[in-house]
Amino acid sequence: MTAPKLLILGKFNEDFLRSALLEIYLKDKMPGSVEYIVFLDEKHQFEKVEKILPKKAKSKISKLYYSDPTSLSITYKNFDIIVISLSKEESYLKSNRKAMSGLLMHELEHTRQRRKGLETKIEKEGKKELKKSYSKAIKMNYKKEDIEFLFSNVYEACCHVLREIYVNIELINRGLGGYVLEDHQNLYKKKQNPFFYETIKKAKEKNQMQQILKAFLYELNLMAAVIPFTKFAEKGNKKAKNFIKHLQKNFEAPIYEISSDFTEIINYSLDNFSWTPKFRRTFFRKIFKLCIKFMK
Ligand SMILES: [Zn+2]
Repeated sequence: MTAPKLLILGKFNEDFLRSALLEIYLKDKMPGSVEYIVFLDEKHQFEKVEKILPKKAKSKISKLYYSDPTSLSITYKNFDIIVISLSKEESYLKSNRKAMSGLLMHELEHTRQRRKGLETKIEKEGKKELKKSYSKAIKMNYKKEDIEFLFSNVYEACCHVLREIYVNIELINRGLGGYVLEDHQNLYKKKQNPFFYETIKKAKEKNQMQQILKAFLYELNLMAAVIPFTKFAEKGNKKAKNFIKHLQKNFEAPIYEISSDFTEIINYSLDNFSWTPKFRRTFFRKIFKLCIKFMK
């Protein structure tokens, strides 16, 4: 096994990055398939990453990155590339070693689970549930392309949320929860602007699919943090308990009907979390069902 090559394209302190990486070797394991770990702090730096990508995969991977320029891991045949791409709000990761180790552990675990086939399973299972729910939604009083847009976005977000839940719960179970929590605590430090709360009911009256989608995706994405770290809190971790309280206070949508329906799905997930298709398919089904309820 050779150690991955570091490619530092943004403004980072190399010694700091090496010390964050050392934590992986000490506390976790570096998968032998990782060829490169790249560090960016501006998205145009990805142009240099494109040069090391395999030609055949280049356009697909670039499209994926530019659609949402955040940290990600790339798996291609027998190697992986970890891209750490920081926005201005994530600059704490340049000096908080524990958080940076946490983010690296998180991305590395994504590559492990992807290589085990978990992501493909999630996508396939989700598509089956998507088809069923879509056939119900299509009878509703919306434009066909709006429903398609809504459901494909909810499907993508659902896949993302499940991937996040699996990665973070696995890290928590392996005793590395403190690292990923450190990253999430900083990421969710600022209170978010509840731009859509007032308008959601009006949006429904006006058939504004965009507003419905925004509110729905907001709550859905929040589950990626709420579910794993509630599990961590249930194991007795105090920091995780406080983090969940902070999310409930500052990030929960203050419209009772939305958050109470999501709370039901969160509780289902906490009680029934498992590595089985049954858990995942029920998760998808509940989300799509709620989406339809939301549209009525
Ligand atoms: Zn992730």
